[in-house]
Amino acid sequence: MAERYQNYVNGGWTDATSGDVSTSTNPADLSDVVGEFQASNIADVEAAITAAHDVKESWRRTSSLARGGYLLKAASYLEANVEEYAQAVTRESGKAILESRGEVGRAIALLQYYGVEGSNPVGTVVPSVNPNILLYTNRMPLGVVSLITPWNFPIAIPIWKMAPALVYGNTIVLKPASATPHVATLIARMWEAVDLPAGVFNLVTGSGGAVGNELITNSKVAAISFTGSTRIGMNIASEAAQRGKRYQLEMGGKNPVIVLPDADLEQAAEITVSGAMKYSGQKCTATSRAIVVGNIMEEFTNLVVEKTNALKIGPGSDPESIIVPVIDQASKDNITSMIARGVADGGSVLAGGGVPSGSPFDKGTFVQPTVINNVATDAYVACEEIFGPVLSILPASDAEDALNIANSVEYGLSAGIFTKDLNSVLDFADRIESGVVKINGETAGLEPQVPFGGMKASSSGDREQGKAAIEFFTQTKTIYVDRSAT
Ligand code: NAP
Repeated sequence: MAERYQNYVNGGWTDATSGDVSTSTNPADLSDVVGEFQASNIADVEAAITAAHDVKESWRRTSSLARGGYLLKAASYLEANVEEYAQAVTRESGKAILESRGEVGRAIALLQYYGVEGSNPVGTVVPSVNPNILLYTNRMPLGVVSLITPWNFPIAIPIWKMAPALVYGNTIVLKPASATPHVATLIARMWEAVDLPAGVFNLVTGSGGAVGNELITNSKVAAISFTGSTRIGMNIASEAAQRGKRYQLEMGGKNPVIVLPDADLEQAAEITVSGAMKYSGQKCTATSRAIVVGNIMEEFTNLVVEKTNALKIGPGSDPESIIVPVIDQASKDNITSMIARGVADGGSVLAGGGVPSGSPFDKGTFVQPTVINNVATDAYVACEEIFGPVLSILPASDAEDALNIANSVEYGLSAGIFTKDLNSVLDFADRIESGVVKINGETAGLEPQVPFGGMKASSSGDREQGKAAIEFFTQTKTIYVDRSAT
């Protein structure tokens, strides 16, 4: 029988009041039930928010060095348990084990970065026109922050939100995606292991439809940090804005690379395929459009098809697998119907296009890595996020045309260009409508010490990660002290 896991509220493990549970399964083997998880309701969320609210003042008054100390202890705890956490990520999200280890490593780096951030300055002293006045700014926490996260980076994304939230003095309630609740319970176990004070971190599992609204609208919640689809994110923005709450949204992408005729085509094809296909294209920064300029189209396309066909498909637990299962059956169905729509719109499938059959593929939710060409730049498949291993190759007449195609979609998360020409690089870096810009690099792959976020429908609100996270998780106070009167 599957193990049953609980919510973590006010420093203790608790059942949802409904008594209901839901299960999480391994995408590589749908008969492998990871566990049963609390199907929380509004009352459970209210209890978690109240727990966070009750300790927000004591946590604010805790020295930021001490707050950072908990993060550093958590980093050490994770370091000692990397393999257990990485295996759990692979089992529940389907991710290739090497990438899962990398994701846990990233979580460690984030905890270390923000742990040290606890000893950095949070304000400035500014000269006043009046010599008797000490004029300074200070960064204050917001209070209770709801964190709503997706399944694709089940440890790194919650940590990149909660590490800055905590070190800057906020208390939090995490609602993870329904597909990856087990990894979230492991995050709670980490905070329990380092004796984070009760109520500072709370975990509530359950469906977004059932509990999401309470996490956004509850009057004790000051802010919401969300990562997920643009559709859900925009709804959160509207609910939060009506109540004057701060929100931060990281959402979908349709990330392009431009390949100019002077590029190293072997390298460009290698990086394009890696960006499009690793983790079966389920990264928000995955490459989904290759925009190819001039007479290199045939050579570049052949290289991409050859490299795509060479990718090994298999469960994430096999260190050689590159194409792993997609998260669930609904996602598999969506990806295959997007490919079919691309074909109906005139596209030609050059690689993949279907689902692999036989063992071990029949047990899980596998999709073949797919390359499509001959689709119009405004075709649905070339404009909408697929979140699967599907790359559209699009022709452009020159660099200007390529830039216009790249910018023609509603998203603007990550984008790349392959060229040796410095002017083209600088022009692209200036004019591409994208929050992350890669020159001769993969659209996916980020470093945690620099800001991350997108433009247009990909993001809303302040940037995440690096020093930029302080903007969302604190508010600035400006303090005037008239010394002549003290
Ligand atoms: P999703 O369906 O939007 O879900 C994200 C989170 O929102 C989940 O925890 C979900 O809970 C919750 N949710 C669902 N309905 C809600 C509601 N009515 N109110 C409040 N919360 C609600 O996205 P996903 O499928 O998990 O993740 C894939 C998407 O995330 C892709 O679009 C991808 O591009 C995006 N993403 C963006 C970034 C970035 O940094 N820009 C990073 C990673 C992923 P349930 O799971 O219970 O439905």
